Amino acid sequence: MDYNPYGFCFAFKEFDGGPTNTAEQKDAQEFLNLLFDRLETALKPTSRKYLLQDIFGGKQCSQMVCTECGKVKNRHEDFYNLSLNIKDIKSIYESLAKLVEGEIISDYQCDGCNRKVDLSKRTLIAETPNVLIVHLQRIGFNFETFETDKVNTLCKFPSVLDLKPYSYFEVMGKEKRLLTQQEEESSNKPKEDEDVLTEEEIAKRKEDEEEKREPVREDCFEYKLVGVNVHSGTANMGHYWSYINTNRGTDEKDGDTNWTRTEADPWMEFNDSRVSDFSFKELEKHCFGNEAGSGFMGDSYGTSGYMLFYERRVKKDLKFLILDE
Ligand SMILES: [Zn+2]
Repeated sequence: MDYNPYGFCFAFKEFDGGPTNTAEQKDAQEFLNLLFDRLETALKPTSRKYLLQDIFGGKQCSQMVCTECGKVKNRHEDFYNLSLNIKDIKSIYESLAKLVEGEIISDYQCDGCNRKVDLSKRTLIAETPNVLIVHLQRIGFNFETFETDKVNTLCKFPSVLDLKPYSYFEVMGKEKRLLTQQEEESSNKPKEDEDVLTEEEIAKRKEDEEEKREPVREDCFEYKLVGVNVHSGTANMGHYWSYINTNRGTDEKDGDTNWTRTEADPWMEFNDSRVSDFSFKELEKHCFGNEAGSGFMGDSYGTSGYMLFYERRVKKDLKFLILDE
């Protein structure tokens, strides 16, 4: 059942044009980003141009909210993997909550109330992908030692993930900041005096519209865990392998409440050429990391989940392009 990546390593070139150097250790997230980047370029002229976007593409919304007048500035950013800070954080829910909580920036000149104000800067999930890849920031630069560190401390993640409390609509709805339908329509209306505007004014208007833009309302926020990429080692060297739910490509059938029960599905361990059955009960032990201070070399060495793969309960349709011959 194992796959020999010999051909792949030849086809996937290094920046110098040679085949992949298999002796060099790479960061799994960096490698994934590079692979996606190249795939996207290769798919661009084909009918599958939006394949990666349709499956893995989500949107984050960075917001600046004036604590005085409530003016909100939105900036939408695409992601193929959701990268979460887990330093001193015990679960991915806690990390997501911290994104929403954000931070306060003082002395900001607000153009809503024309005053120097405290500004709340935070991140919300604007659009969810069919397959959500979560990257746990376990490898990062330590500004005290000026070295790259591996963070192996405990960070739990659920087998059924609900992103709703961290979503644009949930958070903005609770704060009663959502635009009403009427407001939305009037801001979408074509401007009649467009031709008398200077380029600068048009750019400003575009920026204003982006700030007010709201994501699509109908979205699904429920996911089940279908895979974990595990890292064992230090920041500079180690070993990766994966635990994968092999019951894939199934959609939830109407009335089927078992779909989210990933623990009831068959799981396997993919560890180089060794492919074997895996008991879901063992997942926590291998993937959650350790309590601080425990384990070999404290926290700098250890085994823990690095990238998590979640599948959405209700899938969005894929887009295909019909190309001219
Ligand atoms: Zn203000």
